[in-house]
Amino acid sequence: MSEIAEYAYRIAVELASQPRFAGSEGERRAREIVCRELESFGYEVKLEPFTTKVYEVKKAELKVTSPERRVVECSAVGFSGETGEEGVEGELVYIESGDPAFLPRHTGWIGLASSRPNRDAWRKLVGKASGLIIAENSPFRDLSKVDIPYEWREKFGNLPAVYVRYNEAVALLSAERAMITLLQEYRDEQLSNVVAELGGTKYPDEVVYVVAHLDSEYGVPGATDNAAGAALVLAVARELSKERLKRTVRFVLFSGEELGLRGSLAYVEAHKDELEKAALVVNLDVHGAALGTVSAVITGSKSLRYAFEYVAKRFGVNVNVSEDVMSSDSASFARRGVPSVNIFRSSGTGHLMHTVQDSANLLHPRGFSLVSLLALGFIREVADAEEVPFEREIPEDVKRKIDEYFRKRLGIYE
Ligand SMILES: [Zn+2]
Repeated sequence: MSEIAEYAYRIAVELASQPRFAGSEGERRAREIVCRELESFGYEVKLEPFTTKVYEVKKAELKVTSPERRVVECSAVGFSGETGEEGVEGELVYIESGDPAFLPRHTGWIGLASSRPNRDAWRKLVGKASGLIIAENSPFRDLSKVDIPYEWREKFGNLPAVYVRYNEAVALLSAERAMITLLQEYRDEQLSNVVAELGGTKYPDEVVYVVAHLDSEYGVPGATDNAAGAALVLAVARELSKERLKRTVRFVLFSGEELGLRGSLAYVEAHKDELEKAALVVNLDVHGAALGTVSAVITGSKSLRYAFEYVAKRFGVNVNVSEDVMSSDSASFARRGVPSVNIFRSSGTGHLMHTVQDSANLLHPRGFSLVSLLALGFIREVADAEEVPFEREIPEDVKRKIDEYFRKRLGIYE
């Protein structure tokens, strides 16, 4: 096993030892580990603060009230809304994914959805449904610990929502009435991105970004998502610290990604004048699973794809490559015209993402070996070339996808 993979594994396990929800004590401790490591390689580390909204769940409870009374285990959807101590009670109505065909005319019912309604469907449900129960998408999946962007609640209104396990949702199809009690609090929190860089020797203003998010979902250890990606950024920083490359390589560990790319959006806003010269973003999000394969999403030109595929072949790594926008921090850069390569590990453990089961026991040094070889090789190639080996242009169809992602899927810009 390569030493770099062993290192990344060891750090990932350390980072995944506790949840790292944005603004939590766990995230602060993870940030200390990251700073300690980067400083030990000789980097000067900067914390770049920004403020965003976070939530805290005080109570999440679901009861069937008719025909019999029973409690169903559930988890809160962050930022969805609140019911007060008295809860909301109503007739259960199955609504699929918020399909208009299933929505009754009257108001005051509790929706039972087979998947999370998208932004437009969510908007239509607010004011009609008093609460929402969302089924996990697989019988094998534990409860999701996720949130919707806080802007949805601010713009559309209160729709207290919870997740239930798939089989519980199937049983709810024969229930008549249910009651949700959801208490959560919101506050503005100062979060920090961690930044370190290796200055370029010949083209220092041309920056190659190597990034990952350090935060996790609420109460989730986030081992594969994304303690492992953060550990890989450190592993790359450790290797490159001994080298001299023509372009600057900047390492950024973002906070608030799980809350809607908050750290990277704050970063690109604060650094907008430098982005014109940014060469590329290499984003590492979801890694480390013992068994899996390497995948990559290219947000950029065909020539970026070919340059990446060339390096993959050079190192003998099979990569499943597609061209798209990725729901991760690279999207914030893509929106400002900076291309990216998003490398991640496809694995059956994807089922466990954003649940408490995404924990360190899923990780294995083997999960880091090929990706560290590939990421390091590609970053070196781009950072040390006399000319960047691809067109910086983002094709029109990908630009449309980026725009749609921010307006509809993430739904935080009109
Ligand atoms: Zn992630």
